[in-house]
Amino acid sequence: YIRWPLQASQKKKVNWVQLAGHKGNFKAAEEGTILKKLSENEKKCFEDLQNDALVHFVPRYQGIVENDGESFVQMTDLLAGLDHPNVMDCKMGVRTYLEEELVRARDRPKLREDLYKKMMEVDREGPTPQEHFQRGITKPCYMQWRDSMSSTNTLGFRIEGIKKYDGTCRTDFKKTRSKQDIIKLFKEFVEEDVSIIKSYLERLRAIRDALKISVFFKKHEVIGSSLLFIHVCGRANVWMIDFGKTSALPEGQTLRHDVPWQEGNREDGYLWGLENLILTLEAAGNE
Ligand code: ATP
Ligand code: MG
Ligand code: MG
Repeated sequence: YIRWPLQASQKKKVNWVQLAGHKGNFKAAEEGTILKKLSENEKKCFEDLQNDALVHFVPRYQGIVENDGESFVQMTDLLAGLDHPNVMDCKMGVRTYLEEELVRARDRPKLREDLYKKMMEVDREGPTPQEHFQRGITKPCYMQWRDSMSSTNTLGFRIEGIKKYDGTCRTDFKKTRSKQDIIKLFKEFVEEDVSIIKSYLERLRAIRDALKISVFFKKHEVIGSSLLFIHVCGRANVWMIDFGKTSALPEGQTLRHDVPWQEGNREDGYLWGLENLILTLEAAGNE
């Protein structure tokens, strides 16, 4: 049949939700797929993932497409065909900035007034006296602050956004840090349905097992990547998304992903965060 262009965008409006990132980075595409603005990193990751143990835990990669003169990665829309799904974006790892971003900011600090304002909205005590004076902050400093305010540093993951089946959407979790608060959010998210928590836990353990044998995972610094939780009608699933900041290590180098980060070792704490996430969900299911 003919696919009217309108159909895709209408469908996106009804069904699709974006819990992070710039709105302009995504476009609806043909039935069941979405387009994300191309980053070379992410493209390379999707290519490498095709022959990896993680391939069944990431959206299916459908290549690069041109649209209105811009390049996009095309991938499966994980929400396709789901009616009023519940969706949660959980950003993994003990830090959300790259080591090279830190180095660059040190060599050539670029002060951002927008980030200073964003920080002030959440915490007027956030900026240092110098940052107050300059009315600006570098991106890595802003991100370090975000990581320390949230559970990123202390648990190795944080909740970025939640959309419920009823259409309500929350992304105001910048200060959500304690395990108790996260347990509460998970319980609200599943509306106390322990069977959904069980399904999520099964999938998370499968992801953990796959990560442990994944060659891709060993050889990449995984920064700013998320687990996308989706449940609807008693069915639950978790997917690994967002490889925009995931980068390959130099040839021969590998990471453990479960040891503390020190600048220079490039460790991301992904696996440690996943263990904590599993423990947190277990606690949510037992309370
Ligand atoms: P950021 O780096 O700020 O997190 P980004 O531009 O890299 O954002 P993503 O994190 O990849 O974008 O995606 C943003 C949101 O879009 C996710 O939180 C999720 O809600 C939605 N999303 C991303 N990929 C998919 C997908 N394949 N299927 C369904 N929803 C998706
Ligand atoms: Mg993301
Ligand atoms: Mg990203």
